[in-house]
Amino acid sequence: MRKAKILATLGPASRDPAVIESLLHAGANGVRINMSHGTREEKTEDIARARAAARNLNRPLAVLVDLSGPKIRTRQLRDGQPVVLHADDTFTLTTRDIVGDDKQVATNYPDLAHVVEPGARLLLDDGAIALVVESTTKTDVVCRVINGGVLGERKGINLPGVSLPIDSLTEKDIADLNWAVGQDVDYIALSFVRRAEDCARAKALIREAGGRAPLVAKIEKAEAIDHLDEIIATADAVMVARGDLGVETSVELVPVYQKRIIARAVEAGKMVITATQMLQSMVTNPRPTRAEASDVANAVWDGTDALMLSNETASGSYPVAAVETMCRIIESAEAGREISTDNFLKWAGKQSGRVSRALCEAAAYASEEMGTRVTAVLTESGLMARRLSALRPGQRIVALTNSEEVRNELALIWGVESLLTPHADTTEEMLKQGERVLLDSKAVDRGEMIVVMAGRLSGLGLSSSVTLFTVGGDLHETASGA
Ligand code: PEP
Repeated sequence: MRKAKILATLGPASRDPAVIESLLHAGANGVRINMSHGTREEKTEDIARARAAARNLNRPLAVLVDLSGPKIRTRQLRDGQPVVLHADDTFTLTTRDIVGDDKQVATNYPDLAHVVEPGARLLLDDGAIALVVESTTKTDVVCRVINGGVLGERKGINLPGVSLPIDSLTEKDIADLNWAVGQDVDYIALSFVRRAEDCARAKALIREAGGRAPLVAKIEKAEAIDHLDEIIATADAVMVARGDLGVETSVELVPVYQKRIIARAVEAGKMVITATQMLQSMVTNPRPTRAEASDVANAVWDGTDALMLSNETASGSYPVAAVETMCRIIESAEAGREISTDNFLKWAGKQSGRVSRALCEAAAYASEEMGTRVTAVLTESGLMARRLSALRPGQRIVALTNSEEVRNELALIWGVESLLTPHADTTEEMLKQGERVLLDSKAVDRGEMIVVMAGRLSGLGLSSSVTLFTVGGDLHETASGA
């Protein structure tokens, strides 16, 4: 049973329903809908196709909508053709409405000339091209090319270290957020988060729109690193967005920040996704490099909940092979290192003062003590399964819930499997039904002892409890036993 989950970005290479189904079959636990590209109509279709594929395969699937955020970009070039910038050339970024060439290009950010000063560094296309500002006018930023390269249309412009006076949610983001709520998606991710307030505002907008989706804060700016703990406390989950993070800070800081973000998120009981260039060479090659295999394994050992594929599945030549490969590397990493007690004790050590945490620690210790294989979690909201997962215990975590939505959300949480149980009116009925679905799915054997824990269950006696339970034994004795 693989513990770390896989999130695959859908795009032109993976829009075909058969390919989506193959991605899921290969092991994708969630799909990312990237709002930076394509139309809302296409994205609506992608979500419907992904949901249909999950239904066909009878498994949960998390749908994550990734809002573009206030990304500054270059605009169009003559005939749509890329241009070559050479070191030492003069190159101008302008807010005038022009068609670009190898001397100048327009930008979508109207205040660019006001926020940069001579000497500032500008990076184009994920840092591939570096410029330094020489002078500015009301509309133009005149630069010297430091590192040249090929510049295509609508490429990102990064201003590392510059704190921009821009809204964290653009008009397009707000419209996309409302659309995503209408699609009943399982997660909404916010790009270029700078502070906790950005997350609080997005969460309020999701709730106002009547949505349930947890908010994922993408950590990709130096300012977000400075406010990491508050962001983690406010958001429901975080993403180590290594692409922009490497441009906004520096590549050598990416591994340092990756470890810090994952450790702090897991400690706070929040889901964390590690993203970007995990198997980059598989965009064009059927096999990954050794360095990429090591990178995936290290993210697993860092404790990430989920690993994301971007271009590999969105636009690459081998989308299904990329998921299969990632699956194999994760399984090998998990098998190749003791992930049970050492991790559990590592994460359990900190005192949080939370009842749910205390119950999860009790469940994990009971499980270690009795040598049980499975901990079943009766949960309405999924919260208790998330909390138990955050301890990274060695035993299987099987969430039993009557909500398809909760199952889909839990699909990205480390180590959590889930089974759908019918609604129950009494504790006894709930345990009986849970036992039946566990046996039917072959997660447990008759006569096997398991740990059963429950989160807050409306009106049921088992609420907030931990018990040891023998499958097929006497329900009354075990439910009320020591
Ligand atoms: C990133 O920058 O790493 C990232 C995940 O964001 P995007 O792919 O939207 O640029």
